[in-house]
Amino acid sequence: MGANLLDYDLEGLALFCERLGEKRFRAVQLFRWIHQKGASDFDAMTDLAKSLRDKLKACATITPLSVLSRQDSADGTIKWLFDVGGGDAIEAVYIPETDRGTLCISSQAGCAVACRFCSTGHQGFSRNLTAGEIIAQLWFAEHFLRTHLGRDERIISNVVMMGMGEPLQNYDQVLSALRTMLHDHGYGLSRRRVTVSTSGMVPMMDRLGQDCAVALAVSLHAPQDALRDSLVPLNKKYPLDALMQACVRYLDVAPRDFITFEYCMLEGVNDTPELAQALVALMRHYGQGQLSWCKLNLIPFNPFPASGLQRSSAQRVQVFAQTLSAAGVVTTVRKTRGDDIDAACGQLAGEVKDRTQVMRRIDKRRAAEPAHFSPEIVHDLL
Ligand code: SF4
Repeated sequence: MGANLLDYDLEGLALFCERLGEKRFRAVQLFRWIHQKGASDFDAMTDLAKSLRDKLKACATITPLSVLSRQDSADGTIKWLFDVGGGDAIEAVYIPETDRGTLCISSQAGCAVACRFCSTGHQGFSRNLTAGEIIAQLWFAEHFLRTHLGRDERIISNVVMMGMGEPLQNYDQVLSALRTMLHDHGYGLSRRRVTVSTSGMVPMMDRLGQDCAVALAVSLHAPQDALRDSLVPLNKKYPLDALMQACVRYLDVAPRDFITFEYCMLEGVNDTPELAQALVALMRHYGQGQLSWCKLNLIPFNPFPASGLQRSSAQRVQVFAQTLSAAGVVTTVRKTRGDDIDAACGQLAGEVKDRTQVMRRIDKRRAAEPAHFSPEIVHDLL
């Protein structure tokens, strides 16, 4: 098997072409075929010389991820489970809205940060995804949706890296995938419409700001160190003061004039009016008296048994949100989408035990019927 061209951003592809003795500009043609037209067959690339196509066939592939299952929610949300080998699976979720189409993608198989409220965190860390595996989620979803919806124009306008994994713990691969998303010859997405969500990898936040300043979301979940230590263990390494200072530095380069803070609402843990006040004070302190630099996104927790946590009642969420809004913090309460297919936030890994069982069943089926294995079979098993 040759190189998988999904692994390359445009610069990488130009170097690859040079190694083949081809001019660098060939990479632009190739890149456009792959990412704009969704081609995976070199023979379809009719404006490339046959000799080049033959060369490519001999040493390269465009190999997408295999889809283990697809689930469609009544609200239009679609979740895909992709096989990344070694018994690992990752998920991507498409969320259609009237004015945009958002794809939530994964950056790692599992996650090492181990946030208490996150089912991916409870699953543990398996490995970093390659740039090709990250971009393949967008490649697949965009071209699947165009075919599925019978449309020629771009469907996915926004990408959020809020699926499985901490993107900034897989920095180089994420950066390469971001470059492909943003490039005019790739997906041409605006920096304002691509969001990296981090649990607080402070040094990498600074690097992202220098290398590729896309929109930033920070998984905050608590306004005080002791509480945040217990919810997001990374806080012990990069406590709130370091995190908030990094956020303020990022604002200088951010494509928007605010940073989004995610706050998962956990009944009796982080949802009291006093903590809402503490959150306002924290934002005001680092905003030097201003609150316009931040947006708070309150996320209803999606309970899973191993967490021992409960979703805050609607009434507690409302009081918390009102406290923030009354103080002048722009606050939204995230609508839950795709609840019927477990695609809502924090459910991306699925229920840990269930997934393991699914993978075991997949393996068994593969061993028993290798010739007949198909995603549809797996779909039945789920
Ligand atoms: S919330 Fe994000 S950083 Fe925390 S464990 Fe889950 S995937 Fe990892």
